[in-house]
Amino acid sequence: MKCINCNKPQPEYSFRVLEVHTLHVRDFGGEKLIQALGEQRTFEVCAACVSSEMRASLFPAGRIARRCAGFVGLVLAGIALTLALSLRDVMNALRVIGPLCMFVGLSGIAGKVRDALSLRKLLAGMNEAEARKFCAWQCVIRNAPKKYNDNDITYIPVDEETAGLSARELAEKYCLIPAIANQVHSTIDK
Ligand SMILES: [Zn+2]
Repeated sequence: MKCINCNKPQPEYSFRVLEVHTLHVRDFGGEKLIQALGEQRTFEVCAACVSSEMRASLFPAGRIARRCAGFVGLVLAGIALTLALSLRDVMNALRVIGPLCMFVGLSGIAGKVRDALSLRKLLAGMNEAEARKFCAWQCVIRNAPKKYNDNDITYIPVDEETAGLSARELAEKYCLIPAIANQVHSTIDK
């Protein structure tokens, strides 16, 4: 097997997962979920990728800068628009566009910073082994396919933790409909 992130052999972590495919169907009654059990797969992650994921999460400045680039652009566009419109005789309704762009951009930046800092806090509270396993799982989630045709794919780890959950707890944790939660529960329990 090869690392899911860099394709190098000799991975450090191996995750057995169960796929659940979810189709969101909208009709007059609102949104319905159609779910089916997918394949069981194994994903692996190498030590180098886990270490670099750890570094990126513990020292998140670079990651924040990358993820906020679009929002920074929006703030700058908002400032430019506000200045440009203030010099012209335009309807008041148009004058809100600039500040609105700035507001959306700043909220986006605040959200990304908050996410990065809470992830860092979460990792800081774990011991080394837990933190490495968590980061390896983040690599899996980021690199594994997210779609199967029109279906969203959810990956449920097949491990001691999920084996200890009831069908109801699995349903809550992974947003499963009851029938699929039962199937997942009996598959993991084997
Ligand atoms: Zn790797």
